[in-house]
Amino acid sequence: MLIVQKYGGTSVGTLERIRAVAERVKRTAAGGNSVVVVVSAMSGETNKLIEMAQSFSKMPPTREMDMLLSSGERVTCALLAIALTEMGNEAIALTGRQAGILTDSVHTKARIEAIPSAPVMEQINAGKIVVIAGFQGVTRNGEVTTLGRGGSDLTAVAIAGAIRADLCEIYTDVDGVYTTDPRIEDRAKKLATISYDEMLELASMGAKVLQNRSVELAKKLGVKVVTRSSFNENEGTVITSEEGCMEKPVVSGIALDKNQARVSLIGIADRPGIAAEIFGALSNASVNVDMIVQTVGQDGKANLDFTIGATELDQTKYALEGFGAALGRQEFDDSVAKVSIVGVGMKSHSGVASLMFESLAKENINILMISTSEIKISVVIAKKYGELAVRTLHSVYELDK
Ligand code: ADP
Ligand code: ASP
Ligand code: MG
Repeated sequence: MLIVQKYGGTSVGTLERIRAVAERVKRTAAGGNSVVVVVSAMSGETNKLIEMAQSFSKMPPTREMDMLLSSGERVTCALLAIALTEMGNEAIALTGRQAGILTDSVHTKARIEAIPSAPVMEQINAGKIVVIAGFQGVTRNGEVTTLGRGGSDLTAVAIAGAIRADLCEIYTDVDGVYTTDPRIEDRAKKLATISYDEMLELASMGAKVLQNRSVELAKKLGVKVVTRSSFNENEGTVITSEEGCMEKPVVSGIALDKNQARVSLIGIADRPGIAAEIFGALSNASVNVDMIVQTVGQDGKANLDFTIGATELDQTKYALEGFGAALGRQEFDDSVAKVSIVGVGMKSHSGVASLMFESLAKENINILMISTSEIKISVVIAKKYGELAVRTLHSVYELDK
């Protein structure tokens, strides 16, 4: 088999862990498989680099951020290749650029445009284990880019798609996808399978076990993804098409995103085009807007509330500065969190939303915003109630049974 294995930050967090990863890779290769490995930076490393940059500047140039952040993955991929070689394997470390990962030029959240299979397959065909630095690519002009936080998952899926690997294993510090974050609810249950669509909603709503764009790409390219632990031999969770899933419960999982901020524009000019201008400016500043609620105010004024990732607060404030008084009063609140319930079974069941709202009300948790999709209901609440909300809903929808 041709297998892509991705090891996340904790899996390569120390030299001992890198050695353990090398042993596992060696075993996989010894079983007659061709192996491509994608690694993250050592855990905490990317955050450390960001903090260093922020000690000089609140909004560091994004090109230079990519120069900086891409270094963490370079370290681990080289160390792993060295460890593998020492164990008697032929291994070669490649940066994103050397692996041919071509991206657009949106620094710090670049999108992959193309990956030729040749750079990796030439090494595989020469009998080598290829170790690729995750999370990074290169533009057509030779500039280094990174793929957004958690982006090594995307590297792994994209490479698996490009070389038509039989399997893409994502090794992390939990042994699969659970009904909710097992660090929040210890009664969370591991799922044997989950559909691409449910996983995409969970990942987009804050379950960081897989990066959302990697799930989107896996679905598009039909890459078979399994998440497993690098710390044990347990079977993981298979992410597959809906047909491949064993059961279709109404609610499959719950996600919590504490990295949210709410922006309220109170008393904006209520005229055609104002929303287009505001969200156009935010999009130009590469701010991702999630929920949007507009309410009619008085005297030709309206109120507009929306949520963004908390790390994009400064960019958002900056992008809105140009509007002056047209936006009315501006409020920014990063003491909020988003809780989401996800399940394909919701399509054919009624009363799922009302049960969610009733259960939160019983705990005296106030809902600030609501948004829904066919298979998801999200609410924005005060951050301090985020974990309580998750545990409450986990028990109400009987996910611990
Ligand atoms: P890595 O560094 O390996 O990429 P991450 O920290 O990005 O690992 O993702 C793994 C973490 O995701 C787990 O430690 C767990 O706390 C968290 N997590 C959140 N939601 C879930 C879920 N539904 N199932 C499993 N893990 C989850
Ligand atoms: N090191 C990067 C991050 O922390 C990418 C990754 O770990 O997937 O976001
Ligand atoms: Mg991750």
